[in-house]
Amino acid sequence: MIGPIKKYLALKLHWQIFIALAAGVFAGLGVGKIGGEDAMLFGSLSYIAVFDFLGSLFLRALKMIIVPLIAASIITGVTGVGSTKSLGKMGGKTLLYYVSTTFLAILTGLVLVNLIQPGVIDGKPAKEILGLHGAEEFKEQVGDSGFGSLMDIFIRMVPENPFRAAVEGDILAVIFFCLLFGFCITLLEDKYKQPLATFFQAVFETMMRITHIIICFAPLGVFGLIAKITATTGIDVFLPLAKYFATVGLALLIHAFITLPLILKFVARVRPMDHYRAMAPALLTAFSTSSSSATLPLTMNCVEKNAGVSNRVTSFVLPLGATVNMDGTALYECVAAIFIAQAYGFDLTISVQVLVVVTALLASVGAAGIPSAGLVMIAIILNALDWPLEGMGLILAVDRPLDMMRTTVNVFSDSCGSVVIAATEGERPAYGRKPKLE
Ligand code: ASP
Repeated sequence: MIGPIKKYLALKLHWQIFIALAAGVFAGLGVGKIGGEDAMLFGSLSYIAVFDFLGSLFLRALKMIIVPLIAASIITGVTGVGSTKSLGKMGGKTLLYYVSTTFLAILTGLVLVNLIQPGVIDGKPAKEILGLHGAEEFKEQVGDSGFGSLMDIFIRMVPENPFRAAVEGDILAVIFFCLLFGFCITLLEDKYKQPLATFFQAVFETMMRITHIIICFAPLGVFGLIAKITATTGIDVFLPLAKYFATVGLALLIHAFITLPLILKFVARVRPMDHYRAMAPALLTAFSTSSSSATLPLTMNCVEKNAGVSNRVTSFVLPLGATVNMDGTALYECVAAIFIAQAYGFDLTISVQVLVVVTALLASVGAAGIPSAGLVMIAIILNALDWPLEGMGLILAVDRPLDMMRTTVNVFSDSCGSVVIAATEGERPAYGRKPKLE
């Protein structure tokens, strides 16, 4: 027994996580077969409780470091960029990358949902065939507000109290305050600037050390998370929604395996294969946790250690990207909203579709990097477009697996963004080596 364990621990981290993920699927399917929630390991301890314990412990550890990591990373990122001019330049490029890739993702979704028409079954709107369940909860969450609730997201970006924002995990507000705080540090005299910059750099390094410790437990955490999901989600939920599921899945695959690699190859001039390999631990964790924010520590670690991007770039681009840049979520918002409209038989004119594109973009910026954030955003989009909120009932059953897939794409796009920005800042790719400046 000791031999195989030793061999397993000697493997590279991404293989360890991958094997854990596969083992989780098998364990989950097995437990699902012998009774799911009712299958007991011993006494009143169920298998699912054990899976849940492993998964929750890992998730809590990751969440524990999100706020201090994001704060320290953005402040060091902004102070590390240097002058106001280079900060503006880097900020501009980062924003351009976020907006253009998100837009490309939405377009991919838009084209596919119009071609495949998942909301139409046998020439008829699919609403009656699919049935509607469980949208009440969202009605309560979103109320009656229309476009205003989308705009509210941007108002809430400015915290009334930055400490409350940190305590409540309101990441967009924390980011806004830290960007401003970091920027103002760069305006100080040297005698004030230096100690602050050193202090936050030290906090950041400490958070990364904690990250290393947590990452060692990633295989166990991933096993628990995946086993629980597989044991509690039956295959049968996919069947009626297969066309919709395939549309989102195919669009995400096109974005992750065609659009983004092309950007990597032609803009950043790196080999996409090298980048997939470098990012594997973070991508597998994103898939298992459905949370870009919880994956952020691993994303930073992989981009710095495996892709060799400098801390100056990652500490600015990645924490911002984990909340603001969500290609997968934007694509999903667009496909899901149009799918619901098709299922209701609504007229989808060009102007309505343009409105969906804009709302999907805004919603992806406003969505938090946590599980199901994109689903809640759909409710806001439906309200904004004056479409029935009950439509949510059509997509609930398969949201979790789609969440896993879109989160992986979100994290992958953030990582590509840092490589692209690094390249435009004159850094050379250094997969498996230390970062080099040209
Ligand atoms: N779970 C996604 C993320 O963390 C957000 C979403 O629900 O689309 O990136």
